[in-house]
This record gives sequence, structure tokens and C-alpha cells, in this order.
Amino acid sequence: MDNFVATEETYDWKREHGTSPTIKKMAHQVRMRGTDNQILQGRALGLWSKNTEQMNAFLRQSVEEIRKFQLLKIKKLVDNAFANVPFYRELYTACGYELGSISSFSDFERLPIVNKSLLNSFEPSKIVNDAEHLEHANTSRTSGSSGSPFTVYSDDNDIILDHLQVLRFYSSCLKTPLQESDWIYLLHHEGLAFSSLHGKYRTFQLPDLLPDTPLGEHLSYLRPRLLVTLPSYLPLILQHKEHVKSSGVEAILTNSESSTQQERDYYSKALGLPVYDEYSSEEIGMIATQCTHGNYHVIEDGVYLEIVNADSRGFGNVVCTDLNNELMPLIRFDHGDVAKRTTSNSLCECGSACTSLEEINGRRDDTFRTRGLEVVPSASLLAAIDDILITPDKTLKHFRLIQKNSETVELITQYSGAPHKSMPKILQELRDRISLLFGYSITLLHREVHEWPMQKSYKRRSIVREWEIN
Ligand SMILES: [Zn+2]
Repeated sequence: MDNFVATEETYDWKREHGTSPTIKKMAHQVRMRGTDNQILQGRALGLWSKNTEQMNAFLRQSVEEIRKFQLLKIKKLVDNAFANVPFYRELYTACGYELGSISSFSDFERLPIVNKSLLNSFEPSKIVNDAEHLEHANTSRTSGSSGSPFTVYSDDNDIILDHLQVLRFYSSCLKTPLQESDWIYLLHHEGLAFSSLHGKYRTFQLPDLLPDTPLGEHLSYLRPRLLVTLPSYLPLILQHKEHVKSSGVEAILTNSESSTQQERDYYSKALGLPVYDEYSSEEIGMIATQCTHGNYHVIEDGVYLEIVNADSRGFGNVVCTDLNNELMPLIRFDHGDVAKRTTSNSLCECGSACTSLEEINGRRDDTFRTRGLEVVPSASLLAAIDDILITPDKTLKHFRLIQKNSETVELITQYSGAPHKSMPKILQELRDRISLLFGYSITLLHREVHEWPMQKSYKRRSIVREWEIN
């Protein structure tokens, strides 16, 4: 591999495609991000070199120290939003807010919760603190499940900090810290803000993984230390098992789609590598990352997270405050996701005092609800499918579970041959198991299809709730 020589051009990671024309072609489909330039890479590199120790130390602080830091950030953020962002000025004035009136988290948690559709009903210039900065601002646009696109504006500092937090997470997943010369391999439609920092901490990105992608050979050529991927690609990655191991990959990280612990454990065992999951959103960036003990720890220097309106099982709405986006403050922003805090009060065995989430259920719209509106954990539903449909059967190609109303669930399947057990028996077992999760008896319908409906979204939607609740 060539050594990088600093020029005005950014480091060209795409030329490390090895000998494969397929890899070359796929890498060239990746579009370069606007942020991925020499100047911002240089600023990020400078900060990373200077602050790595400090950033690592932050996560090892006591809860009291973390909260003290966050409260200071929040006071500044809210006052800045109130003073300079017309949207928040109006919203907070209406509830009697005055500058400097936050002195505790309970003060803060009395401020109204905002969401995408509320922010979307205002002109972009009304939701940022500097309308003149808008045309130069970095944007990320999300489609979301609601069908209304949403643009988040952020300044360079926010983009850089987010990237450094990603590097810190990557480094924490390795046996020894990430080195300048290391490669990270992304099997993902979405790249990082920076493909490298002046040729250091490089990423190689394939936007898709297809059955005929010569991934194994390319891994052997590049020898990355981490593989970052959608959980959907894990079965295909497993087919390159020998290469994955011999190329020196130390861990696999998943994000963007929800996957169950059971699923990740299966691939971790099969590949002989740890698999860690990350919970993030387009709006906020990285929210929580999984530690070696399976808990999701909140990235407390990036986000203040609340679980609001928790039901009796502990599942509530994920409400986040981005501590670093000063241009377009997202304060008490409801993602539409559902999660549950870790119930134990003791410190996680990994030593982190950061807020822990036990389970993240993804989009609230897709979460099954009982007639009393309690959350039925998606992970438990998927585990039932795993046990009853998938584990014993190789002929099941696709499935989807749809909640039609409070009493009825429909299973859609596509088999490539006959199921190994009789369908009535499968349905009976599944109905009993789902009824247990609901706490009452449900009706299970079944439909076998010959053609699986195509989906635009990358997100796997194997759990869908059609029953609308208000
Ligand atoms: Zn932990």
C-alpha cells in the first residue's frame, strides 16, 4: 500500500480496492460527503490527537460529575436557543421561560417536548440560531417513517465532535487502541463524516453487500481491524468467515437497523468475534453504544437522554437533547423510538457510570401494543419467530408479523419449499407464545405469499403495527 503524501487532495481510499474490479466499481458508487475535505479532516485530526485521553476519561467519571457537565451544557443550550432561535423563543415564552431559569434537571424536564413534525412546520430560518449561516451549514436529510422529510443543520464543530465520538467508540471495541495506520471497513449505505483524517484512521466503504461481492479477498488485502455493518448483512458476512478471521478483524459493529441480542450472539459465536451494536439517529448522531457486558451506554458528552412516559414494563419514549448542535438546537427531541432503562441500580461491570439502556425497541410506530397500550418487546416477538419458525426450518425465506388490532396479529411468510413442520402446528405454537407476551389470547392469521413485496427502505421491517392508536 502507498504511503500518503499530504497534498490539497484528500486521501483517496477508493484506490485501495485491491485486484477486484467488483470492489472497485462498488467503492466508486460511494459519493463523497461535503464535509469530507482537507480542512475539516485536519481540524478533526488535531482535536483527536490532543483530546483522546480526555475523551476517554469523560466516560469513566462518576454519575455526579457527568450530570454536572450536562447541566452546564443544557443551561447554555437552552438560553442560547431561547435568545437566538425564533422557534424556541416562541415555544418557551408560551410556557413562561425566562433566561437563566434552569437550575436543575427537573426545571429542564418541564420544558415542552418537540418532534420532527412540529419542527417541520416552521421555516428553516426559524429553527436555527443564525439564519445567515444556513446556506453554508452541513445538512443531513432524513425520510423517516412518517413520510415527511426532515433536514437537520449542523455546524462544523458538531460534525467533528460526532466523528471523534465515533472514533472513540471504535477504539473501545478493539483489544488495543486504534492506530493511525488502521483501516475500518464499512459495509453500509452511509459513510462517516470523514473517510480518513489526512490518510489516518482510514475507512473503506462498500455501499452494499451482495451474494457475489468478493468481500473475503478484499478483507485479506486490506486487513481492517473493525467491520461496521447493517445487521441484515451478517448472514452474508458469515459466508466469508475464514477470510474475516484470518484478515485480523477484531470485532463487528452493527447499527441503523434493530437486531436482537439473540441474533447478534448467534453471529458472534459463528464468526468467533464479538458483535457490538450502536443506537444512533440521523438527527442526533450516536446515542448509545453497547459495551462488552451487553448494556447500551449513552454517549453522555453528546446527548442527554430521557425515557419519558414509561409503561409498567419500563418502556418509554426516547427523548434526546443534542448537547453539541448549537446551530439547530434539538432540545427534548422525541425520536418516536421506544426503549427501556436498565433496571439494576448497580454500576455496569464494564465500569461505566453512563446511563444504561437494556433494550431499544426502535420505532414506536412498529412496536406492538396490548389493549392496555403496553409495549410488547420486539425482541421477544423475534425470539419467538426464531425458535418456532427459523431455527428448525431452512425453507423460510421471509417473514413479517403485522399487528392488525389489539386482538389480531397476522403472519406473512414466503417459503421456498414445504415447511418442515405442518403449518397449523407452527401457527398454534406461535399463537400461544405471542399470547403469553400480550398477556391475553390473540388471534393469529396467516398468509403465504409467492412474491415478497419490495421495500424502499433499508430498514428491515419484520415487525409492523398497522393498528393505529391515538
Ligand atoms: Zn457496560
